[in-house]
Amino acid sequence: MSKLDNPDVIVVGAGHNTLTTASYLASCGLGVLVLEKNAIPGGGQISKALTLPGFIHDSHATAVVHLQGHPLLKNDELGLKSKFGLKFAYPDSSFMTIFDDGDTLACFMDVDRTCADIAKYSAKDAEAYRAMAAMMAQLGPMITMSMAKPPVKFGSFISFLEQSPIGEEMLMAMMHSSYDLIVERFEHPKVRLHFLKWMAEMSCSPEDKTTGMTLLFLIYSSHNNPAGCVVGGTIGLTNAMISCIEHHGGEVRCNSPVKKIINAGGIAKGVELDDGSVLMAKKAVVAAIHPFDLGDMVPGLDAGLVERAKKLELSTYGGVLINAALNEAPRWIAGKQPEGCLCVNYVDYTTFEDFRRTFDELKYGELPTHFCAYTSVHTLYDPTRAPAGKHTLYMYGFAPLHPKAGHWDDLKEARADWMMERLARYAPNVSGSNILARHVDSPLDMYRHTPSLRYGDNVGIAMYIYQFFGRRPTPELAQYRVPGAKGLYLSGPFMHPGGGLTGGGRATAINVMEDLGLDYSKVIIG
Ligand SMILES: Cc1cc2nc3c(=O)[nH]c(=O)nc-3n(C[C@H](O)[C@H](O)[C@H](O)COP(=O)(O)OP(=O)(O)OC[C@H]3O[C@@H](n4cnc5c(N)ncnc54)[C@H](O)[C@@H]3O)c2cc1C
Repeated sequence: MSKLDNPDVIVVGAGHNTLTTASYLASCGLGVLVLEKNAIPGGGQISKALTLPGFIHDSHATAVVHLQGHPLLKNDELGLKSKFGLKFAYPDSSFMTIFDDGDTLACFMDVDRTCADIAKYSAKDAEAYRAMAAMMAQLGPMITMSMAKPPVKFGSFISFLEQSPIGEEMLMAMMHSSYDLIVERFEHPKVRLHFLKWMAEMSCSPEDKTTGMTLLFLIYSSHNNPAGCVVGGTIGLTNAMISCIEHHGGEVRCNSPVKKIINAGGIAKGVELDDGSVLMAKKAVVAAIHPFDLGDMVPGLDAGLVERAKKLELSTYGGVLINAALNEAPRWIAGKQPEGCLCVNYVDYTTFEDFRRTFDELKYGELPTHFCAYTSVHTLYDPTRAPAGKHTLYMYGFAPLHPKAGHWDDLKEARADWMMERLARYAPNVSGSNILARHVDSPLDMYRHTPSLRYGDNVGIAMYIYQFFGRRPTPELAQYRVPGAKGLYLSGPFMHPGGGLTGGGRATAINVMEDLGLDYSKVIIG
């Protein structure tokens, strides 16, 4: 009998977070078996030849930013970079906006360079930005570290902030919306629109209260972490994690959908697969179970706990993603600068009213009437993703999770036509025979791919302050443990520190190892 017929730990799901947890647990000497429902592992951390042979496309996450400052990569804790082949390409700038008149505004890792770009529009705004970056330079390292560990209680976090003027300032930002902050600090309409669109990438309206902290953290992260993409596609991160797990004797098994957790006498003992087969774990079960599914997946839980988990709030919107194979690279009306940028953003609003209405449209299930998208042309900095001389295009545009009129399967191609036509106003050669093939995913397609990204919510549940830190997803589940199912741990975007490639699964691993009495100091540094 192989070690993995009766593993120490069964991990349900091979996405970013669960693979992170599995990699840490395997590195600590546990026998780990990962079960993935899909034929290809990765969840939202995946790339495929979606259009033509030789063209590699990211079908979900593409920009790796916050993770660069996480001990997993910063300290290369598990050797993903030094031993398991993970490589990044780093473009010159992380995020830029092209306005409809061809003007641009870019964010560089260097604060001075960013301020110089803002100063093209307003010297006062450049100084306001510098002050925000300086404030976050003081608080950011503490927040980054807290994202790699189990969350502190919400009250303790607030008390900590209340102890200093800078903490108070942060607290005020947390209570307000990004919109409040942006309008208060910046005067030029283009500077305001640039930051509003940037913030909106977090899948909630910048006008929603309690989103201000996200803006501040984005500012910190963009100047302290080199924004990159994985060479060969985001799946390279998945492959490095799987190599790490296998190196330590673990296994990742695809085409293995799990139906239920076996919860006997309040102890999670193993899993039942869709085909009725049963696998038992000796020490623990870690699972990507969206809070909405807890009651169905785990028998015997307290009805109140299940009900509270079902009441969580999803993000306001997701997006339509177009991946295309191009004969030649885009030629932008803005010139060469976008060629060195990871996420090129388009703003065709001229007034705030237009901008604000976009989020009302999304809230009411309508498709935005203004173009609200960003593109990445990975082949400009990672030529391995296409045959020589050819290019890939990734375009993500905001869209409602549930369209008010029609079904996503009927709407998505027409929406993609509209987005491509709008993009051609900024890059006229991205049209006609230059587009060799394309593939479109709607929010519904993303949900079909993985239940953690509920209805296409790419952060699992909304990133509002009341669903943050020791309250994510609910206070009783925030430590990854599931009361009423001892030995079961949750790992996913709906847990602290939230959605995106954030290395969140490390915190789950810490609590599993602590409960098992393991000395994890050899793998967890800092
Ligand atoms: C279009 C889009 C673009 C994005 N862009 C970015 C970006 O550029 N940068 C960034 O940082 N983030 C981005 N994200 C967000 C990021 O992809 C997700 O937050 C992240 O992938 C979540 O990882 P996870 O492991 O928690 O969940 P998932 O990636 O959803 O993985 C969960 C895995 O578990 C499997 N699973 C679930 N239930 C079962 C079961 N019962 N049995 C077996 N297997 C199961 C699923 O199939 C899946 O493989 C994007 C998301 C989307 C949708």
